[in-house]
Amino acid sequence: MSNLTIIGAGAAGMSAAISASMANPDMRIPARGQRSRESGERGAFLHITVFDQHVRVGKKLARTGNGRCNIMNVGDISGAYRGDAAFAQHVIRSADTGAFLRSIGLVLAEENGGRIYPASKRAGGVIDALRFQLEGRGVEVRLEVVESVVRNDDSFVINNSHKADKVIIATGGKAGILPCDATGYSFLSGFGHAITRLAPALTHVNVQPMCITGLKGVRLDCEASLLRKDMVIYKEEGEIIFGDSSISGIPVMNLSRLVEDEDTLAIDMFPRHTAEELTSVMQSAFEYVPDIEKVLCGLIHPRIAKIVHPPSLKNWRIPIMPNKHDFTRAQVTAGGVSCAEFSPDTMESRRVRGLYAAGEVLDVDGICGGFNLMFAFASGILAGRNAGRHE
Ligand SMILES: Cc1cc2nc3c(=O)[nH]c(=O)nc-3n(C[C@H](O)[C@H](O)[C@H](O)COP(=O)(O)OP(=O)(O)OC[C@H]3O[C@@H](n4cnc5c(N)ncnc54)[C@H](O)[C@@H]3O)c2cc1C
Repeated sequence: MSNLTIIGAGAAGMSAAISASMANPDMRIPARGQRSRESGERGAFLHITVFDQHVRVGKKLARTGNGRCNIMNVGDISGAYRGDAAFAQHVIRSADTGAFLRSIGLVLAEENGGRIYPASKRAGGVIDALRFQLEGRGVEVRLEVVESVVRNDDSFVINNSHKADKVIIATGGKAGILPCDATGYSFLSGFGHAITRLAPALTHVNVQPMCITGLKGVRLDCEASLLRKDMVIYKEEGEIIFGDSSISGIPVMNLSRLVEDEDTLAIDMFPRHTAEELTSVMQSAFEYVPDIEKVLCGLIHPRIAKIVHPPSLKNWRIPIMPNKHDFTRAQVTAGGVSCAEFSPDTMESRRVRGLYAAGEVLDVDGICGGFNLMFAFASGILAGRNAGRHE
């Protein structure tokens, strides 16, 4: 019997378990509760065990896409990944994530920007589909914290007692509001793998509260740019949302992981119009209503009109206060286990045979749009397919 153990039952871990089982069509999977000893057939079984520290599998998945689960993206991936982007793109192209998701019974629906959601628009439905596969394929799910993974001759020993021939580390990152001690990093560094600097990504940016007084809850369509000493580091159009002392929304989330000390957010409220066009519109309006605040109220949200002056309409500068340590509101972790020491074809460690990694624990993070789950699924599919292969 071959024992494959997966640590973490998120998108990466569950897809790895299912994909390992799919890679073994000729191998009999033990029925629930049945052990290899009971069969008396040595080598006939692939036994797959998945550990997770939570009381149920896929806990983070349930909160993705505001409960709708933006599960993948069929658009261009060339600018979608940070960290080891080349590794991520190779993995995405090697695993047909759409085919895998359909094969477990999900019907997929495309929305703007290539974003793919389950047709049911329910993250819970995605978790159910994965869970039913784990159950149907006889995968053993153990809801226990894994505290140690060590190598012992040709096998691995988990929590000093559970033995495995191969191990997939799919423990996710530090992002999200779930309590997470991010042990996957220490398991992999214990095997000699390098970990790059970890930082929150896809999150809000903190700003001086006095710069956005009274704007809590206001939404604004604009182009948001990240400026460093007047140089544009990143810019994107979309809706931003003001908080008490922070700004969020997709363009801001996408630039959040690039923020450094003394950077500034520049907001263009009319990116499709030149400054001259805007001035001309305002001058015409001013002829009817010679009150600049009233003219501004005709153009922008009245609460923003109260705190900005006309020159700021296309260049409203707000100093950012970097947020390098608050992972609680982040959707993903920038940085992680260096991908250079893993094969992007198999996800196997180049240092330790039989050791694999998948998902957010690796040094890959995507922009908003389903790219992070797509990487978690794709890397899980490859890791499972290769670790589960009968040798
Ligand atoms: C609020 C929110 C919304 C998001 N929305 C989207 C979205 O719509 N689209 C998108 O693409 N991405 C989204 N993301 C990001 C995406 O959810 C993650 O990148 C992805 O889930 C990572 O999958 P993973 O399997 O690598 O890790 P996880 O989903 O974090 O799974 C890791 C699992 O490992 C378990 N684990 C960790 N350590 C141990 C241990 N020592 N012992 C036992 N178990 C352990 C954890 O309990 C966890 O269940 C969102 C993230 C958040 C926080």
